Amino acid sequence: MLPSGCAMKEEMLSKKRAKAKLYTRYPLSSLLIYNGTTILHFLLGGIGIILGYNFSSWAGYLFGALYLAFSFVEMYVMMPLTVCPHCVYYRMKNSLCISGLNVISKKIAKEGDPKDFPKRGEGLFCNNNLYLAALVVPIIAMIPALILNFSFFLLAILLAVVGLLLFRFFVIFPKVACLHCSAKYKCPQAGAMGVRNM
Ligand code: SF4
Repeated sequence: MLPSGCAMKEEMLSKKRAKAKLYTRYPLSSLLIYNGTTILHFLLGGIGIILGYNFSSWAGYLFGALYLAFSFVEMYVMMPLTVCPHCVYYRMKNSLCISGLNVISKKIAKEGDPKDFPKRGEGLFCNNNLYLAALVVPIIAMIPALILNFSFFLLAILLAVVGLLLFRFFVIFPKVACLHCSAKYKCPQAGAMGVRNM
């Protein structure tokens, strides 16, 4: 099956404007770095919340489980259902985006409208804000937990999660993911990262 005219036009336009190589299929190493960092961030965040509030018989497990459910559902269910169908990777033949979620999206969601892709960054509860919340919530939750229930192990988890967040913002987004993304001319996050003219 050939890619739709719209997807081909977007791809050609992107290639013309870009200096950095735009990927139709990201290398497997990029996918592993992106998803490995994401999953590690969520797991360490959940463990940190559970350990940080373990002075209560229920609070740590409840908040930790809620956080883990929220972060994984937001990233691996809501994203392919609500954001990916509008993305150029959904429509490009044999494509593989940085998260690989375009492949899942094709199996579980109908093709969307490219014009709706920037909506991922519009409104208080937009996908971009929920994604950011999934990354930042464990850091915010672990700070009071450290004051109430200090341990060096918890401190190490907090520092590791902060490190993963900084690695994502200063290495993964600008150098591995958004820089090479064929959706970067429409994606609000790429605009914020300043990688459109690179
Ligand atoms: S530009 Fe970055 S955030 Fe936007 S779709 Fe591409 S990889 Fe994802």
